[in-house]
Amino acid sequence: MEIEFLGTGTSCGVPSIGCHCAVCQSSDPRDKRLRTSAIVRYKGKSLLIDCGPDFRQQVLRASSQALDALLLTHIHYDHVAGIDDLRPYSYKHSFPVYARQDVIDRLHLTMPYAFGTHLYPGVPKLDLVPIADGPFMIGNVAVEPIPVMHDKLRITGFRIGPLAYITDCKTLPPAQVERLHGTPLLVINALRWHKPHHSHLSIEESLELVRRIEPGRALFIHMSHEAGFHSVTCQKLPRNVDLAYDTQIVRVP
Ligand SMILES: [Zn+2]
Ligand SMILES: [Zn+2]
Repeated sequence: MEIEFLGTGTSCGVPSIGCHCAVCQSSDPRDKRLRTSAIVRYKGKSLLIDCGPDFRQQVLRASSQALDALLLTHIHYDHVAGIDDLRPYSYKHSFPVYARQDVIDRLHLTMPYAFGTHLYPGVPKLDLVPIADGPFMIGNVAVEPIPVMHDKLRITGFRIGPLAYITDCKTLPPAQVERLHGTPLLVINALRWHKPHHSHLSIEESLELVRRIEPGRALFIHMSHEAGFHSVTCQKLPRNVDLAYDTQIVRVP
């Protein structure tokens, strides 16, 4: 299993427009955080998780541009705004997109031109596949949805082999904490150090979840400039916990 982080930033990205803080002006490439998205490569399949506004730029710099399917965590714009740029992946056949029914319904509203009977030539051809709570297969890869609460919005994390990928979490149901106990690689959102946010875990809150889940390794994503410099923050974290950074590739044997 290999995960390549295409982006590790919160919805406005880092640097943020109009901000002149030290993190936004950092010259360390690990402090440049495009919107959160990743490619998971497992058993010969390349699965994109979320497709935000930076997707085109992200996939052009990725180690491989191959993609077999898109998994969506939720409908927020920083996670779906790049879907139109999947056009090159749908020339020959429609590109599969796995999401909960409420996300699919909203996609019909946000991209009405891509669905219907008389399609403008060249629009992305998407095969929207509804998922529910149970596991599903993408070819020979089993994907288990993880129910996650993003404030009051029920969204989806994904468990793929040794990986549990959770973004935009504020609360994780206790049963899921138990189920994920000891997972080899936990990827989870952590917005900033201390200040609570209504819909995102802070680093402190994510560390508390890490203590309960006891993963082999944890990597944080969906960070704002208030998560600090990569080099400084990582030194303050426990030995098996780090901030992920854009373009990072992590393999789990
Ligand atoms: Zn988000
Ligand atoms: Zn969100």
